[in-house]
Amino acid sequence: MHRPVPPLASGTRLQRAGLWLRDHQPLLFRIQWGVVAVYAFLLVVPVILPLPGSAAHIWSNLTLFAQFVFWGLWWPGALISVLLFGRLWCGVFCPEGALTAFTARRGQGRAVPRWLRWPGWPFAAFVLTTVYGQLISVYQYPAPALLILGGSTLAAMMVGHLYGRNKRVWCRYLCPVNGVFGLLARLAPLYFAVDSRAWDACPPDVARLQRFNCEPLVPVRTMESASPCHMCGRCAGFRGAVSLEARLPGAEVVTVGARTANGWDSLLIIVGLLGVATAAFQWSASPWFVALKQLLAGWLVGAGQIWPLQTTLPWWLLTNYPEQNDALSVLDGLTMLIYLAGVTLILTLSISLPIALATRLLGPWRWGRFHHLTQSLIPIAACGVILGLSALTVTMLRAEGLMIDAGPARGLALAGAAGWSIVLAVRIIQRSNASPARRGGALALCGAALLPPIGCWVLLFWIW
Ligand code: SF4
Repeated sequence: MHRPVPPLASGTRLQRAGLWLRDHQPLLFRIQWGVVAVYAFLLVVPVILPLPGSAAHIWSNLTLFAQFVFWGLWWPGALISVLLFGRLWCGVFCPEGALTAFTARRGQGRAVPRWLRWPGWPFAAFVLTTVYGQLISVYQYPAPALLILGGSTLAAMMVGHLYGRNKRVWCRYLCPVNGVFGLLARLAPLYFAVDSRAWDACPPDVARLQRFNCEPLVPVRTMESASPCHMCGRCAGFRGAVSLEARLPGAEVVTVGARTANGWDSLLIIVGLLGVATAAFQWSASPWFVALKQLLAGWLVGAGQIWPLQTTLPWWLLTNYPEQNDALSVLDGLTMLIYLAGVTLILTLSISLPIALATRLLGPWRWGRFHHLTQSLIPIAACGVILGLSALTVTMLRAEGLMIDAGPARGLALAGAAGWSIVLAVRIIQRSNASPARRGGALALCGAALLPPIGCWVLLFWIW
């Protein structure tokens, strides 16, 4: 997209907003440290307090308050903010990003090793933290929250200390939500646009006077996607070529996605977000989980192996809070893993098969087309994670006596996300040269791929 960028003092309101971000870095810096202070307080202090009793309330008990803030407001809020403003969250508010940048300013600045640049980390880190979080009940107890969030923050600081002077190597390669935020940012209506012709045309003596540091290591001149950009605004106005702009939500998925969609993105969308995350949000309410556990228990008892039913493990391996009457046995843990793997497998197959058939209908098999069509599922995948996290918000508010009827809002969100996915599929399919009949068939198949995840949420919210 080649658009002349107006001089710095003029431009649209959005362009001026981008420049405002660039010119107010000290303020953003202070905001980041404010968030770090709140984050550290809410993460650490509840661990040294006794667990809340049954009469405790969100407003009177710090542990419940922290739980509500982290999982009920913070995470769903961060995801929604990425859908609206790109990764502004990462650039301005994320405490982990601020801390890794802090250690990178004084660290060893070593070159980033190859293992760390493995493109599969966003997928692997998301799946591993999601499953581990379920095993140790990260949403319910402060110690697991400190272990997972605090452990991740500590790792971020260590990576910052070791690699990349003044860079956010952790955010770029290892952060467990980097991949998810990167996918959601592609839907955002705001992004930093780069006019590479204006960039190249900028006289060298002017360019020499301008300087900026892109902490998440984005190659700004060739940046086409909002996915890796933390929206910090530091590059705004650089060489008269970079500006904050508006676009149609999801436009990037249709255009840039045709060239950049890849297998790791598809794995994260189908297996990670639509598979593992959906299964993780529903297992505890699932009658199938109970049936599976009974089946396994029957087999074990029949085989004379009672110990998996009676043995518990330390809390950092498997939920173990006997004083709260909440301890999972080895059998519970095994059943959970089998359930998560099974539901993920079923969802993966039932989503990827219609997408694969749609790919083939549009022409000879091409993985690039499969990955591009898969990107049309980002809205429904994003909606699922937001609904799953907001279910915790609703549960906690209900426990406080606030009887919210979330059904209509959930129905609306699912319908809106499905509609958005269909619109993206239509626009992706329109780019192919296939006959109208084949395009119609491909669209129907992309619609069919939406049914399994929607079915899972209908089961969880309206049937079970
Ligand atoms: S490209 Fe880099 S410097 Fe520019 S806004 Fe994005 S994160 Fe900041």
